Amino acid sequence: MLNRIKNRVLSGKRLTGKDASTLFESDDIFTLGSLGSHAAGRKNGRKAYFVRNRHINPTNICINRCRFCAFSRSKGQEGAFELTVDEIIRKLGGSDQELTTSSFSEVHIVGGLHPEWPFEYYLEIISAIKKHFPKLQIKAFTAVEVNHMAEISGLGLKKTLVALKKNGLSSMPGGGAEIFDPEIRKRLCPEKISGRRWLKVMETAHGTGIRTNATMLYGHIE
Ligand code: SF4
Repeated sequence: MLNRIKNRVLSGKRLTGKDASTLFESDDIFTLGSLGSHAAGRKNGRKAYFVRNRHINPTNICINRCRFCAFSRSKGQEGAFELTVDEIIRKLGGSDQELTTSSFSEVHIVGGLHPEWPFEYYLEIISAIKKHFPKLQIKAFTAVEVNHMAEISGLGLKKTLVALKKNGLSSMPGGGAEIFDPEIRKRLCPEKISGRRWLKVMETAHGTGIRTNATMLYGHIE
């Protein structure tokens, strides 16, 4: 079966939905990789695109404490941290806009669901970054974090996202998608919003002009 699909890929023919299912179910990772590479090469040549960015984690304190997460801590636990806005700005290069904008073009912000921070604090973080580094793209807050902000602010999803965008948010990272299958998700991270809710957050984000992506997690061990 894979051979037939291979011939179609090599001759540049479009694959059918059934072909896609067959590829999805195959565990022949080397053939899948080489076919993928062939298709990408035909489309893009040898060009590769990347973004130079810097990661900021404002806090690792999180009310969810998903059991696969080695990053999170509870408040007061050893290793827990909370960054001030000034500390975040310093991490990004202080007021040296020239240095920052020449070495990276995007800041990627993700963190825990802090039990006490108000929604205004998240707005303060991104508006301070925008003020100090107007050229930086701000890709911030997973759907799980945005849902948390909508809850603590009482604003609902749309108004929460509009406020984030107004304060400088350009796009959102794909964290928290993990796995959408309800059964597996229930076993993996029952504390997190459902896959359906995750999609709702992203749909609402798209409706406000915020671009997003999705990050799938695999290789979980029970
Ligand atoms: S919500 Fe995110 S930061 Fe919090 S425990 Fe789960 S994976 Fe970790």
